[in-house]
Amino acid sequence: MALVNEHLMKLPDNYLFTDIAKRVNSFKVTHPKADIIHLGTGDVTRPIPQACAEAMKAAVDDLTHTETFHGYGPEQGYPFLTDAIVRHDYAQRGVSLTADEIFVSDGAKSDTGNIGDILRHDNSIGVTDPIYPAYIDSNVSCGRAGTLGGDNRWSNVVYIPCLAENNFIPQLPAQRVDIIYLCYPNNPTGSVLSKEELKKWVHYAIDNDTLILFDAAYEAYIRQPDIPHSIYEIKGAKKVAIEFRSFSKTAGFTGVRCGYTVIPKEVTAATLGGKRVSLNRLWSKRQNSKFNGASYIAQRGAAAVYTPEGKRQVREMTDYYMGNARLMKRHLDSTGLKVSGGENAPYLWVKAPKGLTSWQFFDHLLYNAHVASTPGIGFGPGGEGYIRLTAFGDRQECEEGMRRICRHL
Ligand code: PLP
Repeated sequence: MALVNEHLMKLPDNYLFTDIAKRVNSFKVTHPKADIIHLGTGDVTRPIPQACAEAMKAAVDDLTHTETFHGYGPEQGYPFLTDAIVRHDYAQRGVSLTADEIFVSDGAKSDTGNIGDILRHDNSIGVTDPIYPAYIDSNVSCGRAGTLGGDNRWSNVVYIPCLAENNFIPQLPAQRVDIIYLCYPNNPTGSVLSKEELKKWVHYAIDNDTLILFDAAYEAYIRQPDIPHSIYEIKGAKKVAIEFRSFSKTAGFTGVRCGYTVIPKEVTAATLGGKRVSLNRLWSKRQNSKFNGASYIAQRGAAAVYTPEGKRQVREMTDYYMGNARLMKRHLDSTGLKVSGGENAPYLWVKAPKGLTSWQFFDHLLYNAHVASTPGIGFGPGGEGYIRLTAFGDRQECEEGMRRICRHL
């Protein structure tokens, strides 16, 4: 008899975006003529940069000729991409890494989930709250998160609150935690950490022998020059942090699929007996046993991000979304709503007025303004009383959505 992984069964069946779709669909049944503007989902809408598209077309051509055909590639990624990452994403920011510290993959969701394979099931974990739900979900499936309580909290997870009083900047936890997830720029609050703030976390990790899992999927949206793009800009971080990056939001690769994980050779964790083990070597083993590399075509596309045209086009695309964010923030501010984010991230975190819950405010906007948002409670208990709006839409739709919200608030 095959037995199932019962930990996975603990994950609630409801998936946030399915619940949203259900509510939107039932609204459509009763309001068939309503033209709904979607400002909720985190998917991008602009076409991929031309430089990436051309590189991928050329890569398809390569595959059609015997001399340039590529089959299985190196599991860690092609050197044309890992070298470009080291040079452009890190060396240019004063961070020294080698290509064998970069692991190219099919995206940050897989990597932030799969990284748990190289860590014991009984590590304690800490997450900032609210947060991108995939971090907790992936810990549920191996039992690390414990059980879900009536208060919507997992028993073995330390929730680190991000509160309006602190501008959604998390304070260090009072107790020690083995593994901490940080996501900056943050999904969903749109907040960022200054160098001073990030330094506190690196020092906490060094002092407490904590591993930081740093998700920088939105680094391309940072506009303030003094905000760190990588945790390795902080001295000592190479000993305690793994960093995740993605081409999804940088270059519109949500459908193409490509990202990478950085595991410096210095970063280690312990065996139960106290022996220190290189996580770079262990992740390499994990990838070699379960992953056959990201597609050659996607990697060629990703490498084009680092060409002069690619850089310009990526900037144009992210500027477009950040233009949406500015416009949305201006309108929402004018209504008196409390809004944060949107300056170094494509997300706006909006406090529900008059003590409404997340879902009540969601319904209010859907029924009155015909705008779909994302209820903050979907990102953890700390998200109750908020909604998230994203700047990934079309400019005219964003403007129209804002006009409608302003009219109805
Ligand atoms: N990390 C964060 C914080 C995200 O918000 C998302 C997607 O929304 C991802 C990772 C997923 O990235 P990818 O498309 O590379 O899997």
